[in-house]
Order: sequence, then C-alpha cells, then structure tokens
Amino acid sequence: MNQSPTSSRRIDEVLGHGGKPAVSFEFFPPKTESGWAQLYSAIGELHAIKPSYVSVTYGAGGSTRAKTVDLVARIQRELGLCAMAHLTCVGHTADELGGILDDLWQQGVQNVLALRGDPPAGQTDFKPTDGGFAHADELVAFARGRHDFCIGVAGYPEGHPQCLNKTRDLEHLKRKLDNGGHFVVTQLFFDNDEFYRFRDAARKMGITAPIVAGIMPVTNVTQIKRFISMCGAKIPHPLLLKLEAVEHDPAGAARAGIAYAIDQCRDLLNHGVDGLHFYTLNKSTATVQICREVFK
Ligand code: FAD
Repeated sequence: MNQSPTSSRRIDEVLGHGGKPAVSFEFFPPKTESGWAQLYSAIGELHAIKPSYVSVTYGAGGSTRAKTVDLVARIQRELGLCAMAHLTCVGHTADELGGILDDLWQQGVQNVLALRGDPPAGQTDFKPTDGGFAHADELVAFARGRHDFCIGVAGYPEGHPQCLNKTRDLEHLKRKLDNGGHFVVTQLFFDNDEFYRFRDAARKMGITAPIVAGIMPVTNVTQIKRFISMCGAKIPHPLLLKLEAVEHDPAGAARAGIAYAIDQCRDLLNHGVDGLHFYTLNKSTATVQICREVFK
C-alpha cells in the first residue's frame, strides 16, 4: 500500500448530515498469499473512487480474526481512508472483546460495526460464550462504555432469518441504536421496495439514525444463490430469469449483475438513501464500473 496521511475521521461525521450519500466498500482479511495480492489490487482500484469509508469483516474463527484489527489499522494509517472494523460476539468473553476494542482504539480506529455473528458451522442456534454476549445490543452498550467509538449495527430489510416477526426484528434494531449505535448498514438485498418498506417502518418506530444500503454486485450466479440461501434475501423473479439465462456464461452473468446493480443504486439515490455499502468480496471490477456509472 502507498503511504498517505492518517485519517482519524469518524463515520458519523460523514453520514446523514444532508450532504452527499456515503459510498463504502467492504473487504475481508484473506487467508492466502494470492488472496492478499488480490485484496491490495482491489483496494488500490477502489481507492480511486474516494470512498467515504471502508470496512473489514471479522471472521467466524481462526487466524483471520487478528488480521481484521491489523488490516483496518493499516488501511487507515497507510491509505488515509476512514476505516471500520467489524466485531462479533462469537467465541469471545466480554474481557476478550474489551481487549480487541482497546487494541482498535489504541491504533486510532474509531469505527466499529458491532455484531452478534452467526453460529459456527454445523450449529443452527447461536449459543453465547460463557461470560460473553447473547445479542449485538449488549456488544454495542459494552463498546460505547469502553471508548468513544462510532458504532454501526446491522439491519435486515427482509428480516433477520432467525426472527419470524419483522416488527420484533425492528424493535431489536432500535435497541441497538438506543444502546449507542450511530448508524445502520443493511444486509444485501435486490428488491428496493423491501428496503423502502424497512426504512419507512424504522422511521415510524422512531429510528432516526442513517440507514446505509448493502449492495452485492452479482458476478457469479452459483455464488449468489449460496449467499442468499444463508442470509434470507430474495432475488426478484425478473433478475433470477436474467441470471439463469447466463448461468454458464461468466461474462454475461457479470454484465447482467452489473447492469442490475447500476439501476438499483440509481433508484436508491433517487429515493434519498443515506449511503451505499458495497460487499466487494475483495474484487474491484464490478464495483468500480457501478460507481463510475452511478456517480458520473
Ligand atoms: P443481533 O442484532 O443480535 O440479532 C440476531 C437475532 O437476534 C435477530 O433475529 C434479532 O431479531 C434477535 N435479537 C436481537 N436482539 C435481541 C434481544 N435483545 N433479545 C432477543 N432477540 C434479539 N458476520 C460475521 O461473522 N462477520 C462479519 O464481519 C459480519 N459483517 C456483517 C455486516 C453486515 C452489514 C451485516 C448485515 C451482517 C454481517 N454479518 C457478519 C452477519 C451477522 O453476524 C449475522 O447476520 C448474525 O446472524 C446477526 O448479527 P446481528 O449483529 O444482526 O445480531
């Protein structure tokens, strides 16, 4: 990565002040040498879009967890980008989470996406670690008490898969914000009407925090079917038909996915979205094309 001045900006300084909608990119810490090369190349390309902030996911376990803190601090220090670390409750006691939060704070990272996390592979229910937290709202309160973090929380336009009642799910979202969350980043979705209904219901419930829309550019049909089966998002029928027609044509699938995302983002911007958060999967081509088209 190239050297440039450190940014100490907080995300709540760039979101929801009636200015331009934020643009953000999500990365994950790779496990292999070639994965790191791909990540650096993607960050380099996406840096040129001048994102409002970037974020780095927190893995379900193993060695990539420590890499989240290092990578976020490095992106912020060396690229001067505003950066956010995701953090989950999975497998951690409160003491351990406190240590990670201290580490982030000491390294100048002021933005945390506070999450519960998914149950580890092979388990269906989330079981809190002894001395840990059962839900993200507890982590939000804990992080706020630890340092003056700017805290993001997850929201689900189509409802969280484990909560069968959308109103109840929104009440849980509100609790995360009441406990100290500053803004919401949503799960990926393809049907903007789901997002608008979710945002309207949230506002009616008194949620005033900025709500950033999660966008996943589809470039691989098999992969997107796997993702949506895990997160509960639906693919609208017309998009599904288009994607299935090019299922065995990778270039055609990427073209169809990018064209859909461009229309989706334009519509969201026309409807006053607070921000667009791209799940990049450490690839830049689709996201760069979408941003160049949407923000030209
Ligand atoms: P919670 O807000 O705790 O919600 C989980 C479930 O419990 C929901 O059904 C909710 O309705 C219910 N609930 C919440 N609070 C209460 C309460 N007080 N009492 C009873 N029920 C309650 N996962 C990772 O492992 N690493 C990542 O980096 C990561 N990044 C993500 C980024 C975004 C933008 C999003 C949307 C998701 C991300 N996830 C990540 C996935 C996330 O961990 C899962 O969706 C997880 O299942 C729920 O996390 P949460 O923070 O929304 O949990």
